Amino acid sequence: MAKTDAGVSIRNVAKSFGTVEVLNDISLGIDSGEFIVFLGASGSGKSTLLRMIAGLETVSGGEIWIGGRRVDQLAPGQRDVSMVFQSYALYPHMSVRENLAFGLVNVGTPKAEIATRVATAARMLEMDHLLDRKPAQLSGGQRQRVAIGRAIVREPKVFLFDEPLSNLDAGLRTRTRFELSQLHDRLGATMVFVTHDQIEAMTLATRIVLLNKGRIEQVGAPMDIYARPSTRYVAQFVGSPP
Ligand code: ADP
Ligand code: MG
Repeated sequence: MAKTDAGVSIRNVAKSFGTVEVLNDISLGIDSGEFIVFLGASGSGKSTLLRMIAGLETVSGGEIWIGGRRVDQLAPGQRDVSMVFQSYALYPHMSVRENLAFGLVNVGTPKAEIATRVATAARMLEMDHLLDRKPAQLSGGQRQRVAIGRAIVREPKVFLFDEPLSNLDAGLRTRTRFELSQLHDRLGATMVFVTHDQIEAMTLATRIVLLNKGRIEQVGAPMDIYARPSTRYVAQFVGSPP
């Protein structure tokens, strides 16, 4: 399912809310197929940056490119991205199958095509046996998988996750994290994942982008950042040995 060019290019992007600047001159290239993690403390600007890629927030300056196409002035539906929301965003009155199909029905995808994509996603997430259940009949982890499945059926170039595991208990969080890694291997898609949890970042990322107060502190592979933090802030945040 990997698309040839699913890279993301963020060029001198800034964001202000009123007179308050929350992101300052962010430039970052994300390669096709990478698992990029935006890591940072609460309020560092992770969600805002992700939402600008999704088109849920306008940019105050700069450009965003996806798959070689400038997208920062396009509507969310035109960007070839899917955001994975937390599992409580499922429709309680619909079955898993209907929840998975819903976004496609909405945009007029032919019925047979919807059925194929739902079946493929269900197989990939190992939830064929759950398709006729309602969300209330699922565990927290199963619900989160349905939320991920809703993004998969749209076959986007880029998957966007905003702290999707933070509502799960510790054991389930570890398991779902592992499943996400496997899913990334299977799909070969570009994934951008936001978290404030450095362990989550270390285990999932091909590269970590560490944000601090609306600026990029460091970009690098998890072990690089851990072993060679560029600032004291980074060292403290990821718990590097002194
Ligand atoms: P994070 O996801 O890293 O916790 P956010 O991107 O949510 O950070 O927020 C970054 C900063 O922008 C915070 O100071 C937050 O209060 C501010 N902010 C986010 N959204 C809005 C908004 N819609 N209006 C005003 N300020 C906002
Ligand atoms: Mg956030």
